[in-house]
Amino acid sequence: PASRIAGIGETIFARMSALATRSGSVNLGQGAPDVDGPALALHAAERALMAGQNQYAPGIGIPALREAVAAHQWRHYGITLDPASEVVVTTGATEGIAAALLALVDPGDEVVVLEPYYDSYVAMIQMAGGVRRPVTLRAPDFRLDAEALRAAVTPRTRLILLNTPHNPTGTVLTRAELDVVAEVAIAHDLVVVTDEVYEHLVLDVAAEHVPLCTLPGMAERTLTLSSLGKSWSLTGWKIGWATGPEHLVTALTTAKQWLTYTSGAPLQPAAAVALDEADDFPATLRTSLRARRDHLVAGLNGLGIETYMPQGTYFALSDVSGLGWADGMAFCEALPERAGVVAIPTSVFHDDVEAGRHLVRWAFCKQESVLEEGLRRLGAAD
Ligand code: PMP
Ligand code: GLN
Repeated sequence: PASRIAGIGETIFARMSALATRSGSVNLGQGAPDVDGPALALHAAERALMAGQNQYAPGIGIPALREAVAAHQWRHYGITLDPASEVVVTTGATEGIAAALLALVDPGDEVVVLEPYYDSYVAMIQMAGGVRRPVTLRAPDFRLDAEALRAAVTPRTRLILLNTPHNPTGTVLTRAELDVVAEVAIAHDLVVVTDEVYEHLVLDVAAEHVPLCTLPGMAERTLTLSSLGKSWSLTGWKIGWATGPEHLVTALTTAKQWLTYTSGAPLQPAAAVALDEADDFPATLRTSLRARRDHLVAGLNGLGIETYMPQGTYFALSDVSGLGWADGMAFCEALPERAGVVAIPTSVFHDDVEAGRHLVRWAFCKQESVLEEGLRRLGAAD
């Protein structure tokens, strides 16, 4: 195989989900909700399929969805976008990440990225020929260290790849933290690609999602990625979008057209219906996720598994070193047999492996009964 993929193994999410299936475990690993998104979106998809919307959609996405994305950005954040030139539909945020990195990173360019990172960032920085420069969010607070961010930038830095709310720590970057990102990006003339797929899943009532592009001087240098998957519980649809200034959206689209050309036609009108007519779905989901977060975090702590309260996303991290497991990977590999439960070790999301070695991630986008069963099994384990 090409050096482009050297050392890139199977994604941990696929590996751990296969392990869950094989072992009959409660799967608290991969972030996949076990209840579908809004029924009116499902019906809209069914109608689109039966109405013959089954051939290629325009490469940049159907107008109705681009307009719905622009309207969403305006309604929630006061961002104005031209749906014709500043919005492109992608095959999930995953394709947005891939196309953005292929479009903006030259071989040898450095990409500053938060760690623990989402695993596709690592693979795509490598495939683009880039070099990652991680900035570590450290336990117990997982805040962005301004000095570490400044120190990560060199003359070879091309872009910053941000993620807020952050998977897997749940950190929701504050305006003050984003101010530092903006200061660094402007000082070094960098582009920022910001992955905001958990934008509506801020669970801490004192926290707020601030899109980076709304900070002074940032609109012209920020490419914002999001998708339907998390906030509308439609992860399998793989409909996402990228928004930003025309020059960055055009660059991303140039790469996207050779990856997929276009994204799933019948799901696009249905995604527009979700954004336009089920705008209240994420808030309802958020309320129920908050209860599930509290249930899981309290349950784990009650079992003596030291667990941090995440501000956002649907993941929580635990420190398993207090249980006598110095290595989260070993803990997660033994857990299906010991307890019939699957979790994700976070060391695989780090260059600084020591910073994440003792941590494991649980997904709580599961029905209460599933969380309850997971906790019961953990409680019964040796
Ligand atoms: N970014 C982050 C941080 C994620 O957690 C995920 C989730 N799976 C994605 C991107 C991918 O999103 P999508 O399913 O829309 O491709
Ligand atoms: N984003 C999801 C997670 O973090 C998984 C997506 C995937 O399997 N690639 O669990």
